Amino acid sequence: MADQPHDRGRQGRCEALNAPADIIAAIATPPGRGGIGVVRISGKNLRSVAEPLLGRLPAPRRAVRTAFLGRGGKPIDEGIALYFAAPASYTGEDVLELQGHGGPVVLQMLLRRCVELGARLAEPGEFTRRAFINDRLDLAQAEAVADLIEAATETAARCALRSLRGEFSAVIEALVQQLLELRLLVEATLDFPEEEIDALDRENARTRLAGQPNVGKSSLLNRLAGEELAIVTEIPGTTRDAVRQTIQVEGVPMNIIDTAGLRETADKVEALGISRAWEAISKADVLLLVVEASIGISAGDREIMARVPQSMARVIVFNKIDLGAAEPHVELEGAETHVFLSARTGSGVEELRRALLALAGWQPGGEDSFMARERHLQALAKAGECLARAETQMRAIELFAEELRLAHRELGAITGEFTADDLLGEIFSRFCVGK
Ligand code: GDP
Repeated sequence: MADQPHDRGRQGRCEALNAPADIIAAIATPPGRGGIGVVRISGKNLRSVAEPLLGRLPAPRRAVRTAFLGRGGKPIDEGIALYFAAPASYTGEDVLELQGHGGPVVLQMLLRRCVELGARLAEPGEFTRRAFINDRLDLAQAEAVADLIEAATETAARCALRSLRGEFSAVIEALVQQLLELRLLVEATLDFPEEEIDALDRENARTRLAGQPNVGKSSLLNRLAGEELAIVTEIPGTTRDAVRQTIQVEGVPMNIIDTAGLRETADKVEALGISRAWEAISKADVLLLVVEASIGISAGDREIMARVPQSMARVIVFNKIDLGAAEPHVELEGAETHVFLSARTGSGVEELRRALLALAGWQPGGEDSFMARERHLQALAKAGECLARAETQMRAIELFAEELRLAHRELGAITGEFTADDLLGEIFSRFCVGK
């Protein structure tokens, strides 16, 4: 597998795939008789085919009714010709579509005529392969073309179409971008250690954990993360700096910061921690405010909520229900979600996970599903493993950087940014001819 990404531009992909620039032709409609049959032709310049076949190169994107001429100008069939000039076509090259009568003999004659005029028969998936080479589609989109054609149910077809329109690729691309940004910072730290670029200070966190000292934020963080990460102490103010951790809730990553107690203080170091905490909180999408169930929402908590933007979703965790008689449960209070739980015993933590997922807009298996191929799932799983390993290597920055690089490579393989040529061959060979 190549280590450097293929250049995303046309040049790079052409070289990478050693793409032939010749003219290809195929019958694009299924075998058998039909009302209409389509022969599709793609190449760098189709004038040499169009002029003898149609008498002229049609104006782009205009359906013209025309005779399809055989050798010596004798008509083979009559139909519609549609010409798409490069790069605004399916393949990114000049494309000519000939819609004739859908009989196997007529279409074969038409195809043979195209070959006579210099085209060669297209291999399976070759049109889509060219679309990929010319950056009209990324690899996940190209695969979605095949999936759409093969879809056996309406749901499968809808999922494939969403991938084809690039929604799946956009999600992957967003992950790649975040990873890239982190890699740049980490690599910069490696290259210029004296510059003190705080790579890990950059957060793409959406969820922030906040609250008064000693309410159980660290304990809750540990519960959510499922391992001992934050230092749990009983002295107020000791978690004065942000302890950060990306945790996964049902596979959805969530960044949670345990902040210092947000109160006025004379201690300079603590004051710095507090101002950083405010900064972090104001950038969040979801504020997770932890309070003690027996005390409820204090004036200090109200102050926090008053200071965060209105648009931010708020979840208030009433912690330590094990000390009272309350059962774990969730209440909706206007725009606020109240979750009663115990970080110590873990009861109610599952409800919190679900509430967070709902706020993140994630619903299991709904209309928003994508059709993922086994290849995508494996790449995602491997990227996940690399990131999980990276997380344990945060202190060894070289190892951390290496794991990020590997994760990047895995994600890049989904869209074709990093993909071995033999894999590309494998993917496109499974297409039908004419696609
Ligand atoms: P933080 O300052 O908000 O991060 O709070 P910590 O997580 O350090 O917890 C402060 C104290 O409260 C520790 O002694 C915890 O063991 C205790 N604690 C946290 N959660 C619970 C809970 O659900 N029940 C009980 N009984 N104690 C808890």
